[in-house]
Amino acid sequence: MPMASEACAVLLGSVGPVGPGLGCLKMPPDRPLFAPSQRFLSISCKMRQRNLGSQPKRQRSKKFPPKSSTVNMKSQSNDDEDNGAQDASGGHQLNSDSRTLSSANGDSNSIVMTVEALPSANDGVTQIEKVHGRQIPSVCLEDLIAMIRNAEKNILLLNEARVQALEDLDKILSEKEALQTDLNNLEMKLAETDARIKVTAREKIHVELLENQLEKLKNEMASNRFLGEKHDLHDNEEKLNLDSVTLGAKNSPLAQELSTLHKENMLLKDDIQNLKAKLDDVKETEQRVLMLEKERSILEISLKELESKLAIAQEDVSKLSAVKSDCKALSEKVESLQGLLDQATKQAERAVTVLHHNHELQRKVDLLEASLQQANADKFSSEKALKYNELLEQKVKLLEERLQISDEEINSHIHMYQESVKEFQDIVDKLKEEIKKKSLEETMDDMPLEFWSRLLLTIDGLLLEKKISLNDASSLREMTWKKDNLIRDAYLACKGKVDNENLSSFLKLALSRPSSGLNIVHIAAEMAPIAKVGGLGDVVSGLGKALQMKGHLVEIILPKYDCMQYDRICDLKVLDVALQSYFDGQMFKNQIWVGTVEGLPVYFIEPHHPAKFFWRGQVYGEHDDFKRFSYFSHAALELLYQSGKKPNIIHCHDWHTAFVAPLYWDIYATRGFNSARICFTCHNFEYQGVTSASELASCGLDVHHLHRPDRMQDNSAHDKVNPIKGAIVYSNIVTTVSPTYAQEVRTTEGGRGLQETLNFHSKKFVGILNGIDTDAWNPSTDTFLKVQYSPDDLLGKTQNKKALRKDLNLSTSEAFRPLVGCITRLVPQKGVHLIRHAIYRTLELGGQFVLLGSSPVPHIQREFEGIANHFQSDPHVRLLLKFDEALSHTIYAATDMLIIPSLFEPCGLTQVLICFS
Ligand code: ADP
Repeated sequence: MPMASEACAVLLGSVGPVGPGLGCLKMPPDRPLFAPSQRFLSISCKMRQRNLGSQPKRQRSKKFPPKSSTVNMKSQSNDDEDNGAQDASGGHQLNSDSRTLSSANGDSNSIVMTVEALPSANDGVTQIEKVHGRQIPSVCLEDLIAMIRNAEKNILLLNEARVQALEDLDKILSEKEALQTDLNNLEMKLAETDARIKVTAREKIHVELLENQLEKLKNEMASNRFLGEKHDLHDNEEKLNLDSVTLGAKNSPLAQELSTLHKENMLLKDDIQNLKAKLDDVKETEQRVLMLEKERSILEISLKELESKLAIAQEDVSKLSAVKSDCKALSEKVESLQGLLDQATKQAERAVTVLHHNHELQRKVDLLEASLQQANADKFSSEKALKYNELLEQKVKLLEERLQISDEEINSHIHMYQESVKEFQDIVDKLKEEIKKKSLEETMDDMPLEFWSRLLLTIDGLLLEKKISLNDASSLREMTWKKDNLIRDAYLACKGKVDNENLSSFLKLALSRPSSGLNIVHIAAEMAPIAKVGGLGDVVSGLGKALQMKGHLVEIILPKYDCMQYDRICDLKVLDVALQSYFDGQMFKNQIWVGTVEGLPVYFIEPHHPAKFFWRGQVYGEHDDFKRFSYFSHAALELLYQSGKKPNIIHCHDWHTAFVAPLYWDIYATRGFNSARICFTCHNFEYQGVTSASELASCGLDVHHLHRPDRMQDNSAHDKVNPIKGAIVYSNIVTTVSPTYAQEVRTTEGGRGLQETLNFHSKKFVGILNGIDTDAWNPSTDTFLKVQYSPDDLLGKTQNKKALRKDLNLSTSEAFRPLVGCITRLVPQKGVHLIRHAIYRTLELGGQFVLLGSSPVPHIQREFEGIANHFQSDPHVRLLLKFDEALSHTIYAATDMLIIPSLFEPCGLTQVLICFS
């Protein structure tokens, strides 16, 4: 359709100047040939713009009859075939004027129009002029007629096109109208929708408000669960329901939405309630678990306290028997007092009956007086009446007298009663005071060993920090060691703190007394559970505790390893002192730390040496172990020396602290530090720390003096020194861990080269069987265990087994499978090949196997790592190649069997532990 108009416009443009020619067709010259085209054009343009957005309509409007769209009209060309030939002959090519038109916008729907076969306007004019001028009649009449006919045809066609265009216009107008109505409808709908949106927004706000209200109510309900509030909430909900109903009335779809929202809210509320209930349950359970755990820890603490109390109580049985006799006497007194009280109570009861009787009499007197008054009122004048009156008066007198007597009686009874009550109260008060005093004394005696150890460390700290004199320190130490009540009271009076303010009053309060126990100092490389590698650690703490219990003052000196179990050290603190010690021709600073471990006072030496001797992540196995431990031995003696201690026994263990013996006698004894005697214990003669003689000089020992066959020279490698040999030679007493082993090591087979030395010093060499710390390894008190148990109730063992299986990811489905354990250092001595065999054999026989062990020997460690990897996902085997004290306790407690395939064993604490557990 638009193209039709364009075609017309083009025609107009090209035909316009033909005006005079068309004038003969009675068309006004100034008027366009196709007058409606202006309007049509504007409409068609509008239509195009509109149609850009409505493709289907444009498609429809394209349905023109091809005739009307191609105005070039084939018939015209056909008709003009002759003319064409003439034109050609006339040298006027119509085609020269033919124009190719296309829509300006290149629309694909545009129609290409070719105006052809029309004679050129100029040609026509020329021809007509020529005709009118009656000039050469070169154009014949027929031609003109034909031209006119053509023109007429063209006019007809144009008219047809015009009619068509008008029809189209009508259609367009009607379409426009339809569109307008559509538009109006749409606008109305739009307005309607706007209004609805506004309403919905308002309703939404309202709903949000309601939801907020609901939320608030829920919160209220959560915070306060009283029934009344529930009721309120119900009311509120009802209110909400009402609101929603009202809303529903206003707007039904919205009401529906609201009701679904409400339903959802209700469901959510239910869910929230359920969740809350569950949460409450969980919280309750958690709280219960926490409470139980707290209770458990409290119970454990109190159990420990009770145990220590029991030990002290056993020692104090004699004291208690005296207290008992006191108590007996007191209870006799109480009994006699009770008798007195009973008597007094009886008297009081009697007094009450008399009082009652008196009341009775009083009532009678009142009655008589009343009758007397009555008689007076009746004015009896007769003698009888007078006599009667006199009698009555006498009776009254008598009764008054009796009343007075009984009143006096009562008062005396009451007085007596009050006095006996007072007496009784005084005695009770006295008893109470006595009992209080006794219980206070008992509590004081019950001070845990931890208290004494802490006190001792405080005194040593004060001395090292030069806050108290050496003499004061010695006296205070002795008192502490003797658990003297005076120092205890003094310390408690200073509120357990002996700082600068309290120091002088503490010293004033404290007095010294002679001691009977020994001061024993252990210098060692291990101590269980904080720094343990093997049995040595167990012995140091176990023996220390046992000696402490016997009334000796036991102190431990250890290196301050980075890899210690610090959580098992109580009150660890660094002293404000830098201890200087000799090494490699220089003096090095050492930081001194103090703390208690298993109730024992422990000193930790932290050397400020560039080699960071104890900052290696492991206790042993370093290339410079000889240097590390000879340094430590020297520093430990320096600590004792500088702190002014006068120990009775210095006990050193294994080759790591064997240097202490020659250092003590060669260096410190000559300086006057000679109160102690040296005890050396060798826990395993396999390890002797043999090294080249020159190394010995680092710790200040004289190599020339010691590198001799009768002193420290190794019996096999003569260019080397042997610390164990040095300790055997220099100690006052040498012990090993069992009498059998003591025999074994004196033979060529078992002595590892030291048999001669041991035999030479046999008088001071003794084997003492190791023991274990029965507190630390008691499954009924062991805090490392998930469940404690005793021989009377082995259910705990089963529970520990289950827990261990779970923790190690071992199969728990076949609980009947026996669980076999092995806890060991993986060294050739412990028969590693037998352990390996046991793993496979256990599997073969349908058991489960747990190995806990680590190896200082690289190829053994690698081998077991291989086995561990092989069984990584096996449900019945677990190899844990590490040291883990807590896990070792669990394995001992949980397993059904334990293997200890040692090739030789100096004592074998593992064996002892197994026997115990
Ligand atoms: P040794 O002193 O020769 O190593 P003992 O049997 O006398 O052997 O003492 C070993 C001690 O070390 C035992 O208390 C044992 O439980 C413990 N132990 C050995 N290996 C480990 C480990 N990997 N983890 C925890 N404790 C271990």
